[in-house]
Order: sequence, then structure tokens, then C-alpha cells
Amino acid sequence: MTCCGQSRGQIKRITVQFDGQVMVKISKENHGINTQLAHVGNDPHAFFGFVNPPVVHASTVLFPNADTISRRAQKYTYGTRGTPTTDALASAIDHLEGSAGTIIVPSGLAAVTIPLLAFLGAGDHVLIVDSVYHPTRHFADTMLKRLGVEVQYYEPSIGAGISSLLKSNTRVVFTESPGSNTFEMQDIPAISKAAKAAGAVVMMDNTWATPLYFKPLDYGVDISIHAATKYPAGHSDVLMGTVSANEACWPQLHETFVTMGCCSAPDDVYQVLRGLRTMGVRLEHHRKSALEIARWLEKQPGVARVLHPALESHPGHAIWKRDFSGSSGIFSVVLDSGGQKQAHAFLDALEIFGLGYSWGGYESLAVHVFLGDRTIASGAYSGPVLRLQIGLEDVEDLKVDIARGLLAAAKA
Ligand SMILES: *Cc1c(COP(=O)(O)O)cnc(C)c1O
Repeated sequence: MTCCGQSRGQIKRITVQFDGQVMVKISKENHGINTQLAHVGNDPHAFFGFVNPPVVHASTVLFPNADTISRRAQKYTYGTRGTPTTDALASAIDHLEGSAGTIIVPSGLAAVTIPLLAFLGAGDHVLIVDSVYHPTRHFADTMLKRLGVEVQYYEPSIGAGISSLLKSNTRVVFTESPGSNTFEMQDIPAISKAAKAAGAVVMMDNTWATPLYFKPLDYGVDISIHAATKYPAGHSDVLMGTVSANEACWPQLHETFVTMGCCSAPDDVYQVLRGLRTMGVRLEHHRKSALEIARWLEKQPGVARVLHPALESHPGHAIWKRDFSGSSGIFSVVLDSGGQKQAHAFLDALEIFGLGYSWGGYESLAVHVFLGDRTIASGAYSGPVLRLQIGLEDVEDLKVDIARGLLAAAKA
């Protein structure tokens, strides 16, 4: 057997000759995404060869002697600060996000609030996209304002135009792309560039795409946020959040995490790590089914628009195509007329879709979208906006269910 290493661009390939057959091995960091997801975060030989890391239930960690405890001179010191279980998930997310460090927190909402608290203080100004996840807005409008932070919302399609809103005290620009419920795309590289020039930290809620379809840190974002409750957990049973930072922002983020005591339960952390193993396969199924249903919906009577960035008809399609490598399983449909009555008729006619919040699990869900909190991106929609999370069920069954809903709305 002979080997020779060779660099082709950034990809390290090793050609291996074995029994006259030439095989090309690609170095580990360039493995395909499903190969990476099958192994990230796991270090079996650190744990007697067991494939999965142990679920460490811990408050106290013992030190061998007084000198070690006085200097805290060992890797683990107390349960709130991390365990082999949280480290396994954090290192898996670091690998996927390309980040310097990741904190694991007990919900997606905590993954939003902790970094905002880490980087904002009295007298600072924060710019937040107007199509932001509603509880993020609620946190900004209540707690951040009470702490003396000046909160301002911006139009999702602002791009480089954000320069005109940046002030000398703008400390954070908070993005989410696509936006919650209405799926507006943002020009993240342009926004990041302008924000950086003004000395602001750029955060992105990247829950929709997951790091499989968009890697914010590669596009100038400093801090990438996920509701791991969604696709990473994937089964509508676990709440969790992750926050990943680049080198520059990691110390401040980590310091705030330790200060807040906002650590997560080991069984839940383990479940999210378990979910990551199948996330690539699940997400691909969600992607295909959702796109097929979105395209089909565009042609159905009673439908005015389908708000899905991978559709050519979507105003943010060009940005999505430029920056993202895939689309996930959640989008909205706008009916051509009607109001709450028609929306309720649609929802109540559904037999497979459940009516409930959250998404990213294996089962389909539908909700009537509330846009009353928007100050800028409220859109001029002809009828009710219904958000659909396309689960792992068979597409033909889901189409029949949606058709039932459309018929009921038309009759209402
Ligand atoms: C669901 C969601 C969150 C919050 O996650 P929870 O775990 O439910 O608190 C944050 N951001 C976005 C975009 C979400 O969709």
C-alpha cells in the first residue's frame, strides 16, 4: 500500500493504492455532511470505546487535593460550567458552525437572550430585524428597554442601507434570515460588513437553515444562534438552545454564560446530540417535501402567495440562492381573501397537521400567523397567512390534508 498527500485548493486529498486499486480519501474536515454528523462530538476511546459519550449528571466535581481545588487546576470544576456531555454537543456544534466556542442553554429563547445580555448595557443601541421571532421582540421591548438599551427595528431587505441606522452607540445588530413566519431574506454579508465597520457585534438567529444550509460565521456574523429544539432535537420533546461565537466574541459570551448559571440538563443535551446524528437525513426529507408542497400550493385555487425563499417567486430568492445551500421544512401560505374565519376553517379541517407552536419535529403542524407586532414588515397580505411545518409524513397524504383545508376556507 502506498500513499501520497496532495492539496487541491483547500481540499486535502490523499490517494491510497491498495492491491492495485486507487482510492481517493478526502481529509476529515472535508467529509460529506452526513459522515460528519455521524461522528462529530464523539470521542469513543476517551470513554472506554463506547460509541456515545456518557450522560454526566453532576453538580459536584471532586479535586484530588487542596492545592488543585485552590487553583481550580483541572478540566472540570463544577456542573454548571460544563461536563463531558455538554462538551460533546458544544464541540459538535463548533465543528458545524466553524465557531471558536459554543454554549448550551435550556431553550432557543435563552439562546437569544443570553448573547443580547452579554453584549448590551445601559446607553447602548441595538438594531433588530422587524421580522424577528416574536419572543425576541418581547424580550427587547421589555427587559432590554428596562435595562436602558435603546431598541430599534429595521426593514428586513435593508442590506447595506443599514449604514444609515448605525450610530456611535450601536453595539449589536440582531438578524434572523429568513424572518419568522413571513420568511423575508436578509443580505447578511452586506449587513455584517456595515455593522463591523461601525464596531457593532452581529448576531444571527440561524434556526431555520441550521448550520447544514447556512454558516453565518462564514458570512461575517460574530454570533450564531439556534433553537436546537427544532431540527437538531427533531422530535418535539426537548427544549434547547446553542450559541456559537467567533474568537473575538467567545470570551464575553462564555463569561456571561457562567455568570447567568443558565446551564442545561444532561439528558436533554444527550438527546440533542442523538438528534444530530440523523439531522442531515431528516432535513433533506423535510426540504424535499416542503418544496414540493410549496410548488404545488402556488397552483392551487384560493392561494395568493407562498412565502418560501427557495421558490423563484419569492422576493428574497436571489439572496437565498447566493448564500444558502438548502431550505428547510417551514414556510407560509397566503390565502387570496378572507380573515380569521377562513383561517380557522382551514385549520379546523386539517386531519394530519396538528395545530401547535414550534416546528422541526417529525410531524406536520399549522398555525395562523399573527403579524400585529410588526412595525415595518407587516406586509400587505390579501388574506390570512398560515404557517406550515412539513413533517416526515408522505407528501401525497399532506397534500390531501391541505386541499381539505383550502376547500373549507373557500366555503367559510
Ligand atoms: C422556536 C424559535 C426560537 C425559540 O426556541 P425555543 O426552544 O422554543 O425557546 C428562537 N428563534 C426562532 C427563530 C425560533 O423559531
